[in-house]
Amino acid sequence: MSDGMDVKALWPVSYGLYVVSSCADEKAGGQICNTVIQTSADPPKVLAAINKQNYTHELISASRMFAVTVLDEDTPLSFIGRFGFRSGRDFDKFEGVETETGMTGCPIVLEHAVSVFEAKVYDTADAGTHTIFLADVVSGRMVGERKPMTYAQYHDMKGRAPKAAPTYRAEEEKEPPSGGAAREKGEGMKRYVCNVCGYVYDPADGDPDSGIEPGTAFEDLPDDWVCPVCGADKSEFSPE
Ligand code: FE
Repeated sequence: MSDGMDVKALWPVSYGLYVVSSCADEKAGGQICNTVIQTSADPPKVLAAINKQNYTHELISASRMFAVTVLDEDTPLSFIGRFGFRSGRDFDKFEGVETETGMTGCPIVLEHAVSVFEAKVYDTADAGTHTIFLADVVSGRMVGERKPMTYAQYHDMKGRAPKAAPTYRAEEEKEPPSGGAAREKGEGMKRYVCNVCGYVYDPADGDPDSGIEPGTAFEDLPDDWVCPVCGADKSEFSPE
């Protein structure tokens, strides 16, 4: 018999990665969600667990409808960050993103989509920090040819769960700096943390995906450089 509670026991649970979007009273919102699950085949039903503090929660509660985009495995962190870390209350997540309006009126994100579907809520359950929306699927179609992204793949891309995610791990707040030969150049330079998503800019690593060489001080980053995880600009960063 075992006793005690090691929260790590939950870490290997598998998930996917989705955009859940909704609209109400001509306002639209969407967010990253890892907890979308099919619960019945015929008739097709799903559930989505959404944090009570999120704007999308407010919209689904009001309209009792939502749309889901199953993201493909090539979805860049910046796209996930756009929908995952910033609030739709003060930031238009859909600007410049390819969407269509579904039969429910919800905006459906088509970029990086493997498939999309819409659902109408028939019941809810209280799940602590989250509400579980139980819903009938009312439309759906395949969009892309690629494979869906798993939550484990997202984590391997240096992705972190925002505090509002059911899978948020407090222990991840401080990650040890990664190794590598290029480190030495950036050694002694200050690390900066993104106030929006928690990404840490380490001069020793630079940001190679954005063309920033290892050894580049934060102060020397171009003015148009943005957080590779959430898209926040330099003004949103603080010294660590
Ligand atoms: Fe960020």
